[in-house]
Amino acid sequence: MNDNMPVCMCKIPPKLQKNQMYEAIAAYVRNIPVEQRTADDIYEKRLAICSECEALVGGLTCKYCGCFVLARARKDSQQCPMPGRNCWE
Ligand code: SF4
Repeated sequence: MNDNMPVCMCKIPPKLQKNQMYEAIAAYVRNIPVEQRTADDIYEKRLAICSECEALVGGLTCKYCGCFVLARARKDSQQCPMPGRNCWE
């Protein structure tokens, strides 16, 4: 993602917006209850698949659900939302 590309159109400088967004995602992931989290090895596999996927937008979100993949992949109950195909399996 380009540092000069704003995440939103507020007056917060784009670089700060991005940092705040990453911090918010990291805080969300940290707060997922342990019993709901994907195991580390599976999480890494899911993210490796997302990183090569044509549906990954801006390196962060999935075009099919709009989720931040870093967050969605960390929840064990979630599946890849690609229509007709679960790329994570
Ligand atoms: S379609 Fe599936 S593999 Fe592709 S970015 Fe979305 S969640 Fe990741």
